[in-house]
Amino acid sequence: MNFKNITVAGGGVLGSQIAFQAAFKGFEVSLYDINENALKMTDTRFKNYMERYKEDIGATQEELEDAYNRLTLYTDLEKAVENADLMIEAVPELVEIKKDFYQKLAKVAPEKTIFASNTSTLLPSQFAEFTGRPEKFLALHFANEIWKFNVAEIMKHPGTKEEIFQDLIDFAKAIGMVPIPIHKEQPGYVMNSLIIPFLFAAQNLLVNGVSDPESIDKTWMLTSGAPFGPFAWLDIIGINTVYNVAINMGEQGNKESDRVADYLKREFIDKGKLGKQSGEGFYKY
Ligand code: NAD
Repeated sequence: MNFKNITVAGGGVLGSQIAFQAAFKGFEVSLYDINENALKMTDTRFKNYMERYKEDIGATQEELEDAYNRLTLYTDLEKAVENADLMIEAVPELVEIKKDFYQKLAKVAPEKTIFASNTSTLLPSQFAEFTGRPEKFLALHFANEIWKFNVAEIMKHPGTKEEIFQDLIDFAKAIGMVPIPIHKEQPGYVMNSLIIPFLFAAQNLLVNGVSDPESIDKTWMLTSGAPFGPFAWLDIIGINTVYNVAINMGEQGNKESDRVADYLKREFIDKGKLGKQSGEGFYKY
């Protein structure tokens, strides 16, 4: 891996974090977004991260200023990628937006640039043909608050070159992540493939009247040594997000998750209990 210049496309919640973390670890970073207003918001996010990095990981003012000075913001895609060894895409999670973005990018990016998508729910093979370089394209998925939750899932599609996959594993390490290699496309990568069935198993126990949240969490914590159980985790994720996942699973024919969705709406969403963010969910905060 010989990367020096990184471009991030999309300076929203995740793109701004990826850009800042890469700059913090010494890379030169260009960030592209669609207009000046979006870039203004990105800049505000960078300034917030400077405070969070101090509080959460003890970064110094000097390190943070150096990181900030390695970041350059663009509304011109061609300029933003002109030196890029790697372009990380974090544009909205909508197929049409991503497809359109890769078509435009393919026209202006240098041949050497590797493309990686931070998509949460889509698969790289859905976009490979629009990149103009399927062998240099794959997924690189981060968790929110990447300076603390430093896992990067690196996922190939069937056309990704092995060498590129290895380069991305090395890059993830170089920016302070623990890389999780995923050799075959899997919706939800490793983490969501594990956690979604687990969280829904817990909710089914509740909705079916088998046990209560505190007892279910206690069982999990005492038997696994985990610091919290599934219901505390649901509160952290937020009940709205969990409800949306339940609705999506219901649309895919999962009857039990329809019952979970009804329950969440009636007992939580309609009562304004949205989890930790609202002060109450399965627990009070
Ligand atoms: P967001 O809505 O916060 O940010 C999206 C950014 O993309 C905005 O700044 C927007 O102006 C910009 N944008 C819109 N159209 C664009 C275009 N055509 N070209 C370039 N930029 C464009 O979204 P987000 O939460 O940062 O999510 C971005 C990607 O990261 C999605 O694929 C999402 O699934 C993934 N992701 C999000 C999280 C999370 O917790 N939010 C976690 C992991 C992965």
